[in-house]
Amino acid sequence: MPKSIENHNGFTEEEERLWDETVETGEDMRRMFNMRDERRRREREEELKEQWPSTEAARLFTQLGEAFTACQKLLERNPAIEATARLADGERHDVFTMLRDNLEKANRAPRCEYPRSGGRPCRAPKVRGQKYCCMHVAMEAVRPTKFSLPALDDANSIQVALNKTAQGLVDGTLEEKVATKLAYVLQVAMSNVDKVNFEPEEVEESAS
Ligand SMILES: [Zn+2]
Repeated sequence: MPKSIENHNGFTEEEERLWDETVETGEDMRRMFNMRDERRRREREEELKEQWPSTEAARLFTQLGEAFTACQKLLERNPAIEATARLADGERHDVFTMLRDNLEKANRAPRCEYPRSGGRPCRAPKVRGQKYCCMHVAMEAVRPTKFSLPALDDANSIQVALNKTAQGLVDGTLEEKVATKLAYVLQVAMSNVDKVNFEPEEVEESAS
């Protein structure tokens, strides 16, 4: 993802338009700055991800990962090597066992349930007492608003929900995948709205 072009306010064209609207409607302007910061953070993250494979660190991590997996496989095939390694190369064997133990411990740790864009949860270790990992806890904290829907019991409220969905998409507070599902739900709600009646039925007065 290429970096967005920002104007003198640090906004993209889209953000500048929203900013003007925010000024006009007198809405909370911090939301705009939070949104911009969140977009910058996302872009920075993408940039780091793109650059990562060509770094020295990535090369070393790959080597470490591959060597570790190779050691694991070797020991699975030939468990007797473990004792020899401990005896002949204690220090390096310790490094291996430390990595293995920590990995096992990490695998048992509770995982972040934040839904990623692919639909699968993030799976990084959770912050104690929280639902998400530290990155997603921080991300949630900077989200401009929590998305909430009205009860979808008449055409007006469905229209309100539709507006909120569209706005959520523009603001980046609603993931595309969620918005797609929501659009489907709203479509069903719209086609049902004439068929349901939540008002208590009037009891016909019996003629006496
Ligand atoms: Zn996470």
